[in-house]
Amino acid sequence: MQQNRNPYPIRILSHCPLCQTDFKVSNPSVIEERVNAKLIYITCAQCRGALVALVYIDAHGSNSVGVVTDLAISEVLPFRDADAISIDDVLFVHESLHSR
Ligand SMILES: [Zn+2]
Repeated sequence: MQQNRNPYPIRILSHCPLCQTDFKVSNPSVIEERVNAKLIYITCAQCRGALVALVYIDAHGSNSVGVVTDLAISEVLPFRDADAISIDDVLFVHESLHSR
């Protein structure tokens, strides 16, 4: 049996969701690491689009959840720790855009 040497089970991210190019992820950046979870940042070599994925292990095995982002890698953690967007924030942006 061949042992998987990749510590990140990212083979399920086989295609870039933006340009559909096959991912050739050889060096994902680990943004944060905990005991059973890693937050990783992946950049598509073809379109330069980026994904942030949470890869974790729980009682059901290894899992991942990813999202396409326009954040730079240095912006991910500050946004993660930011307050959630409130309805007042949404109204402020709406009113600002419509008051021009
Ligand atoms: Zn791409």
